[in-house]
Amino acid sequence: MTADFNPFDVAQSQFDRVAGQLQLAGEVRQILRWPLREFRFQISVHMDDGSNHVFFGFRVQHNDARGPCKGGIRFHPNETLDTVRALAMWMTWKCAVADIPLGGGKGGAILDPSTLSVGEKERLCRGWVAGIWKNLGPRNDVPAPDVGSTPQMMGWMMDEYSKLVGQYTPGVITGKPVGSGGSLGRTEATGYGVIYTVREAMKHLKLDPHNCTAAVQGFGNVAQYAAIGFIELLGGRVVCVSCYDRNDKTSYTYFRPDGLNPRFLQSITDQYGTIDQAKAKAAGCLIEPGDAWLTKDVDVLIPAALEGQITIDNVNTISPQVKIIAEGANGPTSPEADKEYLKRNLFVIPDFLCNAGGVTVSYFESVQNDANYYWEHEAVLRRLDQKMTTAFHGVLDMSTSRKVGMRDAAYMVAIDRVVKAMDLRGWL
Ligand code: NAD
Repeated sequence: MTADFNPFDVAQSQFDRVAGQLQLAGEVRQILRWPLREFRFQISVHMDDGSNHVFFGFRVQHNDARGPCKGGIRFHPNETLDTVRALAMWMTWKCAVADIPLGGGKGGAILDPSTLSVGEKERLCRGWVAGIWKNLGPRNDVPAPDVGSTPQMMGWMMDEYSKLVGQYTPGVITGKPVGSGGSLGRTEATGYGVIYTVREAMKHLKLDPHNCTAAVQGFGNVAQYAAIGFIELLGGRVVCVSCYDRNDKTSYTYFRPDGLNPRFLQSITDQYGTIDQAKAKAAGCLIEPGDAWLTKDVDVLIPAALEGQITIDNVNTISPQVKIIAEGANGPTSPEADKEYLKRNLFVIPDFLCNAGGVTVSYFESVQNDANYYWEHEAVLRRLDQKMTTAFHGVLDMSTSRKVGMRDAAYMVAIDRVVKAMDLRGWL
């Protein structure tokens, strides 16, 4: 992400453009351009060496017209309030486009979790909840994992909240481990959701997935299951993944022209998404610079790492063979790069549609927590597929009928639903 890339500016400018096309009234725009509520708090953590360290935590609630706020918690050294604001806003659109009865929120803290011991991480997670718990709850705001946070952390957070309210409350947070209120299928939900939308895009473009290749950026939760799904669900070939190496503090592309085996790569990847280079090399991977993934002659690009990765500086390195950009990450494309996609007639599956699988299964998890009845793995994935397929076609129909690109169409579907809910609740 370049220093001048501000995700909240991007989120607001995307909203403004579509608000103009929809001719939204001024007061509606005012409500939706900014979060309803924002919290910034200190988390004081006892470190293993006996010292106390103060971390900064955030929680932003963008809109809850359609239901409780929903969105992940990021632990990242470069976290900013503006990043969290943008992500909270995108969550509002994501829940609306997937047509699940939730609003948008996001949270985080500024830190590198890989530098903390297990005990420090647990105390940090409990401290995060202690700082914000009065504003969380199954009917207010339900966090989940995101970059740098894990199911185990969600388990600790659920436990801390339950202690504070004096009642076992699994529905306060999703993405919990299975066996502690988590849902089967949550681990692969976002990546597989990406692939369900890619499958529908391929049908629309009349592409045979068996003849298609993909390049993936990232090799964390989303990217791993997108890569696995591209091969196992569609029958395609993944030729490279790119990930950040936290030992070398730079990113690399792992390239194998005849196809990678992402399940093997997963077995040599640490919990922060860094691949063991020596083992990858021994298995026949060529190791190239981190941005090489973008230049490969493939049919599908899946940016699934972080925001701000495809900008005006590198968008023109995309190969003419590419037909689909499936945005597994949130906000991977800058507005200038987006204009280039349109000029080149690339079919974009925009982030908040493409990666809605995670929040969809999080919603299923809350439903299961409320009912205290847990579904089979196959039932979760079947319902996820239905939701993603319906959402994709809702956006495609809007794109065709309004003659706009898929990103604007997704905004139109989502904004329309949120504005309707605000209106029905008497906010307007
Ligand atoms: P993660 O922390 O599990 O993985 C992130 C991956 O990105 C790691 O492999 C890391 O090495 C890699 N990475 C970081 N910087 C990079 C760079 N410059 N070049 C190449 N690789 C780089 O995170 P995740 O949960 O997979 O999330 C990835 C993206 O998807 C984020 O934008 C997140 O907000 C979004 N997202 C996640 C979920 C979810 O369910 N996990 C749901 C929706 C959206």
